[in-house]
Amino acid sequence: MENLELTARPKAVLFDMDGVLFDSMPNHAYAWSHAMTQFGLEMTAYEAYLHEGRTGSGTIDILTQRYWGRDATEEEIERIYAAKAELFNTLPEAKPMPGAFDALTAAKELGCKIVLVTGSAQVSLLERLEQHYPGFFREELMVTGFDVKYGKPHPEPYLMGLQKAGVKADEAIVVENAPLGVESAKGAGVFTIAANTGPLEDRILKDAGADVVVSGLMEVAQLLNN
Ligand code: MG
Repeated sequence: MENLELTARPKAVLFDMDGVLFDSMPNHAYAWSHAMTQFGLEMTAYEAYLHEGRTGSGTIDILTQRYWGRDATEEEIERIYAAKAELFNTLPEAKPMPGAFDALTAAKELGCKIVLVTGSAQVSLLERLEQHYPGFFREELMVTGFDVKYGKPHPEPYLMGLQKAGVKADEAIVVENAPLGVESAKGAGVFTIAANTGPLEDRILKDAGADVVVSGLMEVAQLLNN
């Protein structure tokens, strides 16, 4: 097990949500690939993992550029996004990620503030977090899809997370699972642990800038406990 090589004692741990706190990426990847394919935009579930964190319209434009040679219209984006959401809602609710509770507990025991940084814009987000991870999250320490203008891979969401926590970049740790999320965190100058909970090769997360790549949240808990 690697050790964390931090320049300062961590004061905050910033957690991504999908693929980190909840095992929700298989559902998202399935819904994206099937919805896109309905519109003649062939996309594998594996590719959906590569785009994780991008806005819906950003992902759709990449596919329409590839197959139609142009950006999608507003109306096309709405129709594809609605098809994705409809499929997604037929799937069973994602379970908490194994080890995530332990990682949150380890961060709390370190005396760190716990910050959520997600692109998700679900209205019941805090309730769901409270249900599975009671007492760890506070509304004022959450950055969601409602707060940001650019979203990941732009550094904005993690910069906003640092600001909300009132800590500097070298006083924080990010836990991410997606290459674009890692890119965002590293753009904000934060030490980043990538928990590779999906099908991508570790190399992809390393190339995105991750300082450490581990296989899951239990290993994140062990790193924080070290
Ligand atoms: Mg994620």
